[in-house]
Order: sequence, then C-alpha cells, then structure tokens
Amino acid sequence: MSTINETLIRDVVNEVLSRLTGGGSGPARRSGGGNGHVRAGNDGLFQDVDTAVAAAKAAQERLAEGGLKARAEVIQIIRDLCHQHAEEWGRIELEETKIGRLDHKIEKVHSAAQVPGLEMMTTEAVSGDHGLTVTEHAPYGVLGVITPVTHSVPTIACNAIMMIAAGNTLVINPHPSGARCAAVAVQRWTRAIREKTGLDDLLCLIEKPTLETADQIFKHRDIRMLVVTGGPGVANAAMASNKKAIVAGPGNPPVVVDDTANIEKAAEGILLGAAYDNNLLCIGEKEVFVVASVADKLLEAFGRHGGYRLNREQIETFTRLALHKDEKSGHWLPDKKFIGKDPQVLADAIGVKLPQGVICLYGEVDVHSPWLPCEQMMPFLPVMRCRCINEAIDMAVKFEHGFGHTALIWSQTVDHMTQMGKAVNTTLFIKNGACRAGLGSGGEGFGSFSIATPTGEGVTSPLTFTRVRRCEFSDWRLTDGAGSSRWKGRIHRKARILERDALAGGRANQSAVPRPRVGAR
Ligand code: NAD
Repeated sequence: MSTINETLIRDVVNEVLSRLTGGGSGPARRSGGGNGHVRAGNDGLFQDVDTAVAAAKAAQERLAEGGLKARAEVIQIIRDLCHQHAEEWGRIELEETKIGRLDHKIEKVHSAAQVPGLEMMTTEAVSGDHGLTVTEHAPYGVLGVITPVTHSVPTIACNAIMMIAAGNTLVINPHPSGARCAAVAVQRWTRAIREKTGLDDLLCLIEKPTLETADQIFKHRDIRMLVVTGGPGVANAAMASNKKAIVAGPGNPPVVVDDTANIEKAAEGILLGAAYDNNLLCIGEKEVFVVASVADKLLEAFGRHGGYRLNREQIETFTRLALHKDEKSGHWLPDKKFIGKDPQVLADAIGVKLPQGVICLYGEVDVHSPWLPCEQMMPFLPVMRCRCINEAIDMAVKFEHGFGHTALIWSQTVDHMTQMGKAVNTTLFIKNGACRAGLGSGGEGFGSFSIATPTGEGVTSPLTFTRVRRCEFSDWRLTDGAGSSRWKGRIHRKARILERDALAGGRANQSAVPRPRVGAR
C-alpha cells in the first residue's frame, strides 16, 4: 500500500472518529492537543485562504507565548521528521511531480533539515557613554509562502525552520503539482508538533492550491509579508503586489572556463552540478562558455565524468523537440515532457541508447542556440566555444539575463575571477566549485532553498524573516534640557557661536540659550 493511501485512510479514520466523539462534521473541530482551542484545519491542511490565515494568526500568538523554548522544540521536530522520512518524502515527491532523481530528492530533504534555525537569531548591542542600544529581531506575524514544484517538501521544510525560528507562522500555497507530497509532510509535522508541544497550525497549507488562492494570499490583510520561490511569473506577480515581498526568482547560471582552469576538476564539477536532480536546481549550471584553446580538452573531459556528447545533428533534432518559443514573450521555454527527466528519456527522444552511468548529455552550440537563453531544467548542457576570456564573460553576462542569481568560473587567474565577478554581479558567484558549493555543500556557509535574488536579501536565513527593532536604555537625565547627546551637540554648537559673537562685540541674547553642562554625566 502506498504512503499516500495510508495517509488518506488515516485521515478518513480520524474524521470518522472525530464525528463519533462529537468533534463536529465540518473541518473545524476540537484540538487533540488538549489545550482547548479550536483547530480549523485538517492537521495543517486548509480548503480556503481565510480560514488558513485566521488559524495561522492565532497560532502565531500562541507561538509567541511559548517563547524561544517553543520555537526550539518545534524546529527540532521539523528537523527530526525530515531525517526520519527523507526516503519516503523523496519518493512520494518524485512519484507526484515526476521530475528529478530519487537519490537527490532524498538528499534534499536531509539538507533542508540542516538549514539554520534559532542559533542565528542574534541580538546586537552597542554601549557607550550615553546608554545601551539593543537591536533585536522580531517576527512579522503570518507569512504568505509560495513554493516551487522543483523542491516542494524541501522548500517548505527550509522555509518553516527559518520562519518559525524568527517567530512567524506560515500560510503556504504550494505548486499544484507538488501539493500532495507537501500535504503529507505538513500533516506529519503538525501532528507531531501538537503531540509534543500542544501548538497547532504553525504551518497552514492550502490543500488545493490555485493561482486564485495565491492571489488571495497576496492580497490578504493579515499576511504581513510574502516569501515567494519560483519562476518569472510568480516573481513578477509578487513584486507587483502591494505587500513587502522576499522573492527567490529564476536563474540561468552561466559557467566560464578559462585557459588556466584545472580542466579535469572543472569537467567533473560542472557535470555534477548540472546533473543534480536532473538539472532542476535554480543554482545549477545551465550553459558553459569555454575559452577556445581549452574547449576540446573540456569537451573530452566531460565524457570521462558521466557526460554523453551529442553531435550537431542530434542537438538540432533534440532542440526542435525540447524547446519552444513563446510567441507572446519571445522567450525560449523548455517542453514540460523533458523537464527534470533522466538523461535516457532525453536520449530516447532522438533514438540514442546511452551507456551505463551517464548523468548528463552535453554538446557544442553557437551563440544563436536557444539553449543559451533558456533555463532548461533538464540534463542537457550546452557548451559554447569563445575566442577569449572577455567574450566568455560577455556571454555569461548576456545569458544570465541580469537575474542576479548565480554564476560560476573555473580559473586559476584571480584577475579573471575579479573581472567576471564584477561583470555578472550575481547573488552567488562560485569559483572552482560545483554550484552547490555556493550553498555550503562542498563550500562554506549555510544553505537555503530560497535565494532571494530580485529583492536582494540573498541566501535567506532566519534573520531574513524578521523585523528589526531597536531598544534603547538611555542615560537621559532631567537637566536643563541638555539630556541627550544630540541636544548637547546642538547646544555646544550654539554656545560656540555665542562665545564667538560675544568676543566680537556680543550681538546675541545669551540668556535665551541654556548653558551647556560641559562634561556633565
Ligand atoms: P513556477 O514559477 O512555475 O511556480 C512557482 C510557484 O509559483 C508555484 O507555487 C506556482 O503555483 C506559483 N505561481 C506561478 N505563477 C504564478 C502567478 N502568476 N501568481 C501566483 N502564483 C504563481 O516555478 P517552478 O517550475 O515551480 O520552479 C522553477 C522555477 O523556480 C525556476 O525558474 C527556478 O529558477 C526558480 N527557483 C528559484 C529558487 C531560488 O531560490 N531563487 C529556488 C527554486 C526555484
């Protein structure tokens, strides 16, 4: 029996038991947590936005009452369940979305469990002659969260850990094609959180998400901030809304390889990055610009690291099948039937039988190829030969589209790295590493599944989801009105003018100005 069926059956049994014990027939019924409040959803699942927001709002108040201890407990539960269920959740996400690779789906659930939580909720303090200023990070309240199909459960897990660490609760509109696996995870978390802490509805998921429910979230007066992870459509919609939005938008990461690069390492790193989850990562390598003098070496080296090279005719045939021009925007878009599919599925379309162990197809293209501008999200990597490093960097800038997302370089020449870094100006700029090094895997620093690019917050952390508050312990004294340093400064200045004027013949009325208490503290 599949897990989804088990879950459905459990839900039905719970519903029947609830009715038998007088819990009510609608979605609203008494909490099993024993704390007496009315639970509006079905273990975190909601049919409409208003009910979900109301539940999340009440939950946020209860979370606040629980203090940091409650947040810590909830986060630990989310982390533990991710690790315990990574295999099951990875599998059901793959079954539902039908994109990506099982091993990487599982790994992503584990990675999501490791994003930073409460440990990042620092408080800054400044003390001096005039007092103590504490800068603390407060919750927004209820956050409206939109998640992508490419990593449904991991994005929700990552967002939830960070947002709850910051003291917020979530109303989530998942991608419709990844909504069922999201529901399984949210129900598990909700039940465990209720059992162990008595808290409910910290994550409220719209069970049947649509563009309309997303729009209702965008407009809901009790949603304080939007956090949107997805492609250009949703990124633009969020930024056009009247709410504060943190937008983790699309990418099309270019890779530059110059003539000083370690070609063997570059080939391995680029292919591993591009092949990860069949190239679904927004940070994943999408096109390569290699300097001509090392282009053949790189193209050969890919073959030793799991790549399978397509020739020009094969690329032309595959291009006609896999990419389509959107008449309205003029942009090249990938055909859904190849997004996130295994290399053999792509190869089957053009009648190629791949040997064992191929993780990614690749091939040489020219500057006019639609593969360069397109965020293909499938394991085919286009490689363009460039005359020199300048041309390679120019191409990288052009095809990154100014998204400000991710770019990579393989080089041992610091000047080239600096030149490219300045030119692309991306949120992640990775030198001599695969894309995931930019999120702490094979590099340093913490990871996240939401890289806020157009709105500029960068790799999101718990602090991203906080309001910054200042609390001042002042040394204010009841003096002659010269209590604060700003006032003291002004009066010092005025006193100096008066002194100067007095020396020059005394025009000003000195008695109108209080005398500063010089050195008074
Ligand atoms: P998508 O844009 O199709 O969908 C993302 C979410 O937005 C879904 O929940 C969808 O239902 C919703 N949505 C789409 N258009 C909408 C609109 N007009 N109004 C309201 N909601 C809307 O993207 P996807 O295919 O799920 O994910 C892949 C895209 O997301 C890629 O472009 C990838 O680069 C990007 N992405 C970015 C990050 C990041 O951290 N920057 C992370 C993951 C994915």
